[in-house]
Amino acid sequence: MGKFAVLRDSAGLTQILLRDENSEMSKLLNHTPFESYVEVKGVVQQRPEDQYNKDMPTGEIEVLADNYKILSEVQRDLPFIIRSYNKPKENLRLRYRYLDLRHEELQRNLKLRSMVGKKMRDYLQDIEDFVEIVTPTLSVNTPGGAQEFVVPSRHPGKFYSLVQSPQTYKQLAMIGGFERYFQFAICYRDEGGKPDRQPEFMQVDLEVANVTMEEIQRLIENLLVHSWPEHLSPVKSPFPIISYQEAMSKYGVDKPDTRFDWKLEDVSDVICQCGAAVLENGLLAEGSSAHAFLIPDGQSAVGKKIISSWEALAKREFSMNGPSVMYIKDNYELQGKLAKFMKLPSQRSLIETLSGQKGDVVVMAVGPTNSTLSLLGKLRILAADVLEEAGRNVRNTSTFNFLWVVDFPLFEFDDQLGKIVSLHHPFTLPKEGDSHLLYTEPLKAKSQHYDLVLNGSEIGGGSIRVHDPVMQRYIVEDILNLDAHTLDFFSEALASGAPPHGGIALGFDRLMEKICGGKSIRDVIAFPKSLEGRCLMSGAPGKITKDEEQLYHISVKDK
Ligand code: ASP
Repeated sequence: MGKFAVLRDSAGLTQILLRDENSEMSKLLNHTPFESYVEVKGVVQQRPEDQYNKDMPTGEIEVLADNYKILSEVQRDLPFIIRSYNKPKENLRLRYRYLDLRHEELQRNLKLRSMVGKKMRDYLQDIEDFVEIVTPTLSVNTPGGAQEFVVPSRHPGKFYSLVQSPQTYKQLAMIGGFERYFQFAICYRDEGGKPDRQPEFMQVDLEVANVTMEEIQRLIENLLVHSWPEHLSPVKSPFPIISYQEAMSKYGVDKPDTRFDWKLEDVSDVICQCGAAVLENGLLAEGSSAHAFLIPDGQSAVGKKIISSWEALAKREFSMNGPSVMYIKDNYELQGKLAKFMKLPSQRSLIETLSGQKGDVVVMAVGPTNSTLSLLGKLRILAADVLEEAGRNVRNTSTFNFLWVVDFPLFEFDDQLGKIVSLHHPFTLPKEGDSHLLYTEPLKAKSQHYDLVLNGSEIGGGSIRVHDPVMQRYIVEDILNLDAHTLDFFSEALASGAPPHGGIALGFDRLMEKICGGKSIRDVIAFPKSLEGRCLMSGAPGKITKDEEQLYHISVKDK
């Protein structure tokens, strides 16, 4: 009798066969701990047909070994077994990421990431004539935008900031005479533990001189088509374009998932005289409205517990009562907490407005329009999750619905800060014809910004930039009221013959998560941080020595 074993290397699994189970070689194999690194020399041979393993790509062959050697024996009990089912909890996997990386799924994801990245580089460089330029990551603070990580320096009281993106540098590359720049750039943002974000992440960042929004959009579409893995359903271009306004009013979010319908409808006309005082009163304040969407055949899946959790979400995130969740009964009447107060004709006309059928669920919110839309936008996604958990098919997981969102407002009023802030960043040019609004009603100006959305996630964003130094200064100092001295060098550069320019950045981790069908961006990053921004393996961020404290003029306060 021979002895069999299955070996794994970076190409996958292969069976080896040792001819004599009593040989020294077989005894050594018997005593080899799992996950040790071994060397086998032998001859590849066809297996007997009745021993083919159809579940294994190499299932028709095996290696008849004439030499077996342990090169590196596992010396201790490993914290988990490498297998594709019953994986350990993520924190344990992150603590031992070098073992976790041996899992087939991570091997596959990271190889695909490398392959897509290569095709993108090839496309940009060989076909589109872009130049890859590396820009610094140690920089100065950029006012406005995300919180940046600060890095102490040897100069007392002076700090570097880790770049939140190469934005100013890529614009400087334009001014420096490079008309087509790109970079796979690592960006850093201290977002304090937002779910499914990483403090450091990768963007495919590019910038082009003398370019229009449409040209950037075509370029990105072609880039994606070119680098798209062949085993996936193909990307169809050009991508649909919708306005920010339309995205908000139909989907309640600026990154709509268009793989399913369930659009929001304005039902204010029906509700304003529906007979239910609570609902009617919700419409009295200026800027209020009633919106609703329909969950087709959702009655059996959307029960009391789910409705309560949606009510809690409305309270917590929007300080709103509701939503009103109502079932369409067989007699085309509504059933739900507030339905009984609604006149029958109003019930019917609500059902008609939404084209409802019996068994469907109506989800409605009444109140300040922005909150109403945003709440329903969230519930639309949660409701799709609920139906899918109940085994229903709502979103096709093998399709890729890309779309562009355009016509964003240039600024918004931040209630917490009590001032105007950029919706994206201060370098975005107003929409053609809206520049005069900068000086009169900046909040009404629309921008030349475009977001790229894929299946409900924002995977890219960019804009045509301000290249007029006077306008740039006005935006930063007069509209945004930022302390802009750290941008002086940039204003100076803009005044040195800056070409009109624009660009975009794609979130490469998020894009790869979608391509790989991962559950989080950590599934496509080799060594990710935990939710709290820690590396569970190395322990970063860590302490520094007293000497380093002195060198960097740091005094650490005891807790
Ligand atoms: N720098 C921008 C960002 O990181 C992208 C761009 O405008 O090109 O979001």
